[in-house]
Amino acid sequence: MALIVHKYGGTSMGSTERIRSVAQRVAKWVRAGHRMVVVPSAMSGETNRLLALAKELQPARMDAAALRELDAIAATGEQVSVGLLALALQAQGVPAVSHAGWQVPIETDSAFTKARITRIDDARVRADLEAGRVVIITGFQGIDPDGRVTTLGRGGSDTSAVAVAAALKADECLIYTDVDGVYTTDPRIVPEARRLATISFEEMLEMASLGSKVLQIRSVEFAGKYRVPLRVLSSFTPWDIPIDEEARSGTLITFEEDEKMEQAVVSGIAFNRDEAKITVMGVPDKPGVAFQILGPVADANIDVDVIIQNVSHDGRTDFSFTVHRNDYVRTLELLKSKVAPATGATQVVGDTRICKVSIVGIGMRSHVGVASRMFRTLSEEGINIQMITTSEIKTSVVIDEKYMELAVRSLHKAFELDAPVAA
Ligand code: ASP
Ligand code: MG
Repeated sequence: MALIVHKYGGTSMGSTERIRSVAQRVAKWVRAGHRMVVVPSAMSGETNRLLALAKELQPARMDAAALRELDAIAATGEQVSVGLLALALQAQGVPAVSHAGWQVPIETDSAFTKARITRIDDARVRADLEAGRVVIITGFQGIDPDGRVTTLGRGGSDTSAVAVAAALKADECLIYTDVDGVYTTDPRIVPEARRLATISFEEMLEMASLGSKVLQIRSVEFAGKYRVPLRVLSSFTPWDIPIDEEARSGTLITFEEDEKMEQAVVSGIAFNRDEAKITVMGVPDKPGVAFQILGPVADANIDVDVIIQNVSHDGRTDFSFTVHRNDYVRTLELLKSKVAPATGATQVVGDTRICKVSIVGIGMRSHVGVASRMFRTLSEEGINIQMITTSEIKTSVVIDEKYMELAVRSLHKAFELDAPVAA
C-alpha cells in the first residue's frame, strides 16, 4: 500500500464525463489498496474564461490590490473542480473530501498571480487519509500570510501536486495530462518525435525552462529539491487498464544518471517563441556598462535571458539580450529613455521575430563536438545563428522565427531522435 498523489490537468477535467472517468481511475487505485490524494486543475478553458471576465473590468494599471482580486477570481476554477470530483468519487461509493488551498492550508507568499509555496500543513490531509477518504486538493491556489487567496501562476497545479507530494512524502506523484509523456520534442512540429521512457530531472528542468510546456518549471524544481518521484502520463487511456500497466506508462523523471549515461547524447529539443531581442548599439566599452544597461532592466522586474556583448571597435561595443515578448515594449522604452542617454549609446534596436532553439542532454557533459554538430546542421539548412548560449547540458541558439520548425526538425534528425521507421 502506497501513498500516491495524482494530478489531473484541465483537459482531463474538461467535462462531467471526463471527471467521471477521473473518478473511476482514482477509484481503481483505491481498490488496489493505495491511499490517494488528487490535485485537479480547473476544467479546461475555465481559467482563461475567468481571466477574460476580469479583463473586461480591470483597471488599466494592475497594482497589488488589483492582482489580489485576479487571484480571488482565477482560483474559483479549481474550487469547482475539487467539489465535482469529490461528488463523482462518492457516486462510485468511494469516500472523498475536497479542500481548497486555504483549508489544507497551502501557505504561500503574497506575490499575487505568481505566488510561491512556503509551507504545507499536512495534519488535516493525513487525518482524512487515516479516516479512509480520498483527499482532493485544489491545484493552483494557496493562502498568503494575510489570509488572502493566491495563485501560483499559469500551469501552477503541477507545482501544487508536487509540493503536496513532497509534504506528504508520497511514494509517487503522477501527473495525468493530455499527452502520454515527455517527448524528444513537440510532436506537433516533428511527427517523428518519440516518447521518452525516462528523463533525468536535470534534463526535465532544462526542457521546462527552455519552453517545453509539459510541466510548470517550479514543479520540476520542487521535485528535484525534495526528490519526489514524478511521472507524466496520459489520462486518455481507458480508465480500467490494469494498474501495473498504468503505473509503468508515461515518462518517469529519474534522479539516477548512471543508467542514462549510455543513452543518446541529446535527449530532447526545446524551442521558445516567447522572447524578443534587443540590441544597445555603440555603448562605450568600459567597466560597469553591462550593469548600467541591465541594472535598470532588473530593477523594472524584467527577466533577461540570452546576453551577448561584442568585441569593441574604437572603444565602443554592441550589447544584445533577450527578454520575454510581453516585456519587449517596456524594455525598449526604458532603454531609449533612460539607459541610452546615461551610457552614451548611439542606438537601441529590437526584433520580436526571433525564437530560441535548444538541444538538451546530460550526455553533453561527457561528449565533445555536440554543439558543433548543432551549428553544422543549422548551417547546412542555411539558418543564420544570431546568438548562442550554453550550459553543461544544453546549447541554445537564437534564430529567425521563420526557421524554427526547420531548425527543430533537422536537429531532431541530426541527433538521431527520430523514431525508427517500422519495418
Ligand atoms: N488552471 C490553472 C491554469 O489554467 C492552473 C493549471 O491548470 O495548472 O493555468
Ligand atoms: Mg498544465
